[in-house]
Formats: sequence, structure tokens, C-alpha cells
Amino acid sequence: MSGADALHEACGVFGVFSANEDREAAPLVYYGLFSLQHRGQESAGIAALRDKSIECRKGMGLVGEVFTPESIVQLRGQAAIGHVRYSTSGSSSIENAQPFVSRFKLGSIAVAHNGTLTNADVVRELLEDSGVGFTSSSDSEVIVNLIAKNYKKGIERALTDTIKFIKGSYALLVLTDEALVGARDPNGIRPLCLGKLSLPGKPGKPDWLDTGWILASESCAIDAVGGEFVRDIEPGEVIIINKEQVLSFTFSEKTPRAVCAFEYVYFARPDSVLDGLDVYAARVRAGELLGRESAVAADLVIGVPDSGVPAAIGYGRATGTAYGLGIVKSKYVGRTFIAPEQADRERAVSVKHNVIRSEVEGKRVVVIDDSIVRGTTSRRLVSILRKAGAREVHIRICSPPVRFPCYFGIDTPHRKDLISNLNSVDELCASLGADSLAFISVEGLLESLNAAPAPAGKGRKNNSNSCGYCLGCFTGEYPIPVPGEDH
Ligand code: AMP
Repeated sequence: MSGADALHEACGVFGVFSANEDREAAPLVYYGLFSLQHRGQESAGIAALRDKSIECRKGMGLVGEVFTPESIVQLRGQAAIGHVRYSTSGSSSIENAQPFVSRFKLGSIAVAHNGTLTNADVVRELLEDSGVGFTSSSDSEVIVNLIAKNYKKGIERALTDTIKFIKGSYALLVLTDEALVGARDPNGIRPLCLGKLSLPGKPGKPDWLDTGWILASESCAIDAVGGEFVRDIEPGEVIIINKEQVLSFTFSEKTPRAVCAFEYVYFARPDSVLDGLDVYAARVRAGELLGRESAVAADLVIGVPDSGVPAAIGYGRATGTAYGLGIVKSKYVGRTFIAPEQADRERAVSVKHNVIRSEVEGKRVVVIDDSIVRGTTSRRLVSILRKAGAREVHIRICSPPVRFPCYFGIDTPHRKDLISNLNSVDELCASLGADSLAFISVEGLLESLNAAPAPAGKGRKNNSNSCGYCLGCFTGEYPIPVPGEDH
């Protein structure tokens, strides 16, 4: 799918190739997916390779709902890949759950994909014209069918041919009947990293070392299974892991790195390090810079859990404002964005956050959140903080206004639903009912990400292309052309 109606998917992928034939990979993937659950709560799936055959289980819901300890042990084999998926309304169905498996004359492959293709429609049509059937509306099935079509050339060629054909963002895991393969798009928009498994021996076999390799969306998932982070997969790199070797090659011409800045703002877990940058430290720094850019006299600074908390700590440090825990979040409510209807979203926000009255009563409070998209969260927070007796409520946001849709895998709604696209900061402040509102500047965000700001006078386009980050949702300048977006 492409254009404004695209199926936006922001997901997590995790794969294991164990060097020991009697080590089951699926349980490790299961734990890896648990720690990537924040990247997608709609469906989960695992495909495992055993005796050259791939078995896959997937379902709607959280990892713990789709799998039981009993069902996991039935997925046998030394290599496996898994996926957690998050998408918007209209696409929420089991047909779109991943991994996708294709069985054909020469073998089987399974694919797990995080990202969005900008030319999926075109590729789908070409494949359909050549007789390939589809069972879902997912971009990822386009990838699996393209690889399957080229498979007789050998996996390396099939992958390079596929990857040269597809455009957009992807962190891709492919399980073939002998290898685990990872690939990252030429701009490195979505994250992917490599880890090493080396766990102590099994009971009764003290010298047996459980070695192997891991590919994961985030480093926190490598930590979760006791693995060791090795390195990030480079933009445009393919890595093939089999019994004999770990082979890496670059499939694309050198393209500018354009890592998604929103991963650091919101999406990734703070205990992850993505592309060498510590997510927690980047968030604290963003809060400090926000404090330097738009401090306001206040008695207390609080962060909207979870992603607003590190930035609130940073803001407090930079401005000398006392930091406190003023908002409590229910851990058991999924990310509110998921609810397709606005009324449901508002209800979900109410269940999700509550205020600690004794902490905020009578105080001038600064509230830090990572972003404002539709404005649902901020409006509700201002209202409950006032109800709890806060004397003033000042909102500070550690990303620039989200004015443009994302076409590369983070779900941001249509332009018309992006509140900053329709309103100035002053109008938005009034509509939220806050005493003041400020967003970090694009330059401030880039500084928090240790990136150089754009050279003076070169304009936004240059900024987004040369800084190493994709800032498309803030600036409307995308690292690769998007059909329907004429820039
Ligand atoms: P909104 O309430 O519509 O203004 O959305 C902003 C809130 O949702 C912030 O508190 C973010 O933590 C969270 N958020 C931002 N972007 C996303 C996204 N792509 N998916 C889910 N939640 C998001």
C-alpha cells in the first residue's frame, strides 16, 4: 500500500540461529518478543526451522496471549524468527499477522518485517500479473513472494534482487531452510542489531556452550535472553547466518543514513542503544535542551510515563525545577493510539493516566511529554491536573510539532488529524487549556541525538538529508520519495 491510506506498521523482529542442533530457538525468540512488546501489541508470531521445514504459529494479541509455555515447546528447531505487530484500524486481522511463510518447490521461507514499503502497490501488481496469489494486504507478503519468485537463483541473489526492487523502510528477517538472514534498508530508517548467544552449559553437560546468533530490532531484546550485543546492522547491509559462517555484504550504493528520530523520541525502549546512541541519554538530553530553550517558572516538573520521564529529569536538571512523580500510568493498558475511534481513545487515555493529587496540589506544574499527535493525551492531562488542584499547567514537548504523516513504519495519522498541522502553537495551547506550551526545536532535537544541525541557510531539506536522521514527520522532508508527496 502507498500514499496517505497506507497501512502503517511499526513492529518488532527477533531471530535466533543456534550453533547447537539440540538447542531450541523458539523459546529464546519468545522471550525476545516479550521485550519488544512495546513495538507492537496487535499480533505476535514465531516461525521455527526444523529438518528443512518451517513451522509457524501466530495469532492476535500480546505475546503472552498468543503463546503458552506448552505451545512454545512444540515449535522445534535450532533457528527461529518472531514478530510483534502494531498497526492502525482497518488492518487489524490475523491475515496480516507475521511471520509470513511461503512454501514452494525448492524450499520454504519465512519473513518478518518492520517497516513500510513505498512501492508495495506496484510490486504487488507485477507479482499478481505473473500469477502470484496474495492472502493479505500486508507489504511484508509482497517481500516474501518476491523472494520466493527469485529463490531458484540462490538465497543471496534472491535477496539482493528483492531488495533492489523494494523501496521504503525495512528491517527484515528471513528464515530459509538453512539460514537466518537479516537486512536493513539503505537509509537504515528502522533499527536492527546483531547479538551473540553464549550461554553456560546444559544440566548434565557442563562443558556444553550454547552459542549462536541473534538479530533484533532493539538491543534490550538481546539483553533479555542473556545475549551479548555485537553491533548494529549497517544501512544497506545483508547478513546471512548459517551453520558454517556469518556472511555480510552491502547491497546498496552508499545512501545517506536517515535513522528515524521518532525511535529515540518515543518508540524504542530507554534501555536500548540504537546505532550507537543510548535512548535514555538522548531523552534526558532532549529534556535539558527543552529546559534551555523554553524554561518557565514552576514548582514541579513531571514526565508523562513512560517516554516523558527521562526528559522531565533532564528538564529539571537544566532549569533547577524539582522533579517529581505526578502522573501514574496503568501498566496494563496498551498504547492508546491503537483504539480506532476517538471516543475509545479518550476513554483509554483516562484509564491509562491518573494524577497523584498530593504531589501537584497548589503547585505550578510543568508536564513533559514526548509528542503531541492528535492532542488527546495532553488535553486530558491538563484537565486532570487542574482537577487535582494544580495552580498552573505548562506543557513542554520534547519533539518538534508532528505536522506530517510518516510513510516509513511509525503510525502517524492522516494530515488532517495531526493537531499541529491545523493549529499554531498558541492556538493549540488554548485548545488544550494549558497555561503555556512549547516544543523543542528541530535543532534542539538534533543536538539531543548528537547530530550536527543543518548548515545555516541551507534550509530544511538539507537538514533532514545531511543530519543522519529522518525528520519527515516534523519537517515533511523524507529521505526517499513518497508517492503522493510532492517535495
Ligand atoms: P495524542 O494523544 O494523539 O496527542 O498522542 C500523543 C501521545 O501518544 C504521546 O503521549 C505519545 O507518548 C503517544 N504516541 C506518540 N506517537 C505515537 C504512535 N505513533 N503510536 C502510539 N502512540 C504514540
